[in-house]
Amino acid sequence: MERLCYRSTRGEKGNIVSSEAILNGIAGDGGLYVPSIIPWIGMHDKEIAEVYKEDIGYKQLALEILGLYFIDFSRNELRDCIDKAYDSKFDTEEIAPLRKFGSEYYLELHHGPTLAFKDLALSILPHLMTTASRKLGIQKDIVILTATSGDTGKAALEGFSEVEGVKVIVFFPKNGTSEIQRKQMTAHDKVNGFACGVDGNFDDAQSGVKAVFTDKEFIKALEQNNYMMSSANSINIGRLFPQVVYYFYAYLRLLGSGEINYGDSINVAVPTGNFGDILAAYYAREMGLPIKKLICASNENNVLYDFLKTGRYDIQRRFVTTISPSMDILVSSNLERLLYLISSGNSIQTNEFMKQLKVTGKYEITRGMLDNLGCFYGGYADDIETRSTIKQVFNSCGYLIDPHTAVAYRVYRKYVEESGDSTKTIIVSTASPYKFTPAVMTSLDERYTGMDAFKLIDEMSRVSGTKIPDAIRGIQNKADIHTVVCSRTEIKKTIINILGI
Ligand SMILES: *Cc1c(COP(=O)(O)O)cnc(C)c1O
Repeated sequence: MERLCYRSTRGEKGNIVSSEAILNGIAGDGGLYVPSIIPWIGMHDKEIAEVYKEDIGYKQLALEILGLYFIDFSRNELRDCIDKAYDSKFDTEEIAPLRKFGSEYYLELHHGPTLAFKDLALSILPHLMTTASRKLGIQKDIVILTATSGDTGKAALEGFSEVEGVKVIVFFPKNGTSEIQRKQMTAHDKVNGFACGVDGNFDDAQSGVKAVFTDKEFIKALEQNNYMMSSANSINIGRLFPQVVYYFYAYLRLLGSGEINYGDSINVAVPTGNFGDILAAYYAREMGLPIKKLICASNENNVLYDFLKTGRYDIQRRFVTTISPSMDILVSSNLERLLYLISSGNSIQTNEFMKQLKVTGKYEITRGMLDNLGCFYGGYADDIETRSTIKQVFNSCGYLIDPHTAVAYRVYRKYVEESGDSTKTIIVSTASPYKFTPAVMTSLDERYTGMDAFKLIDEMSRVSGTKIPDAIRGIQNKADIHTVVCSRTEIKKTIINILGI
């Protein structure tokens, strides 16, 4: 049997093991690492499902799945990473509880320390990295550089905060996040974490950070100071594959509770920005998880909607600031992996599309590739629809969802109306409504308009009858520690200042 290894989507020569790919973050030619084969688990198989469905537990399942992708890690090394990641940082032992409201299932991925789904991956990535670094005998300190549309930043600061030999620097769009998201970052008070605002939107921050990764001169300067850099963005395989786990987990919960039978297919509806979360679902499907439709939900930045319909990816359009800021993205990095997969691993073609995107801001995939996208359904919801969805779901079943989850729900409804498909569907709930109090509360009642985001935390608790998560209790009283703002082109200089090199 072929041994799984990793290679670049852009055809760089040489295969590497997962620990190297996790540390490098991105390939030397600017491509993303992809596994040479996709392992098969096959949940159609009654015997396999039988073994797994009795509450296997999130951690055990993570061990089984990650063990297939990170094959150069020993089972003990992986178990250790998993134990450190999925502990009492999460406010429920289930880690990713599946809840039913109305006839929908919500996979709640916001029970971690920063109240967004990024915690599922960013609580384990630091441990995968330090283990990888030890395995490879690397003595250097690691600098984690990350652009964030709002949630990755705090999740990375938090995930790496207790990790020795690591510094984290996150760049967020100055006016692009919710007030509470921003406060979570600017008030971060652990010594190894730094946050910096960028004058621009997420794409500016992301392209600015990406440029640093291929800057030869800068890499050399880091080396001379005994640093190496890596990324905590969702392009890292150490983030991507931990996200595969919860799709299997959700399926097994449905099996275990008798909501579905062996072999039944499900749909998943995923609020999408950088295409990481839904790509993990695609990998799960390729591994044998019976997913019929991958419902790709965008907000008004609906590049992916157009792409899935026409095969044309075109970022030459207005960037819209919405109430679901973590999805305010035009350049979805992880889509590059999908292009590679649907072209049967054609790295020359993938490279060509990425070049076109850089030079002209657009590309168009082949007919054959488009035909391979049949398992996707693309849709989008604007802010007005998102708001009415929050209100409607709350009024009909007393369940308060955040704007990102609401986008997924709305697009799922559109899909059902168009297709008549009655397959059971999991709505991926990516954030707690407590991170977006003004948007959520004004959706319920206009009289909250203009009220302070932090004051609305208490009001949200009262109205919804839910407990204020510990993660944001009292956050308004914390001092802002990180107040630097730079332009896209000053990102490198800012990093140099922070590191003092
Ligand atoms: C990051 C994020 C998304 C988008 O996930 P991608 O993996 O970037 O597609 C959706 N919702 C929330 C709350 C997020 O933080």
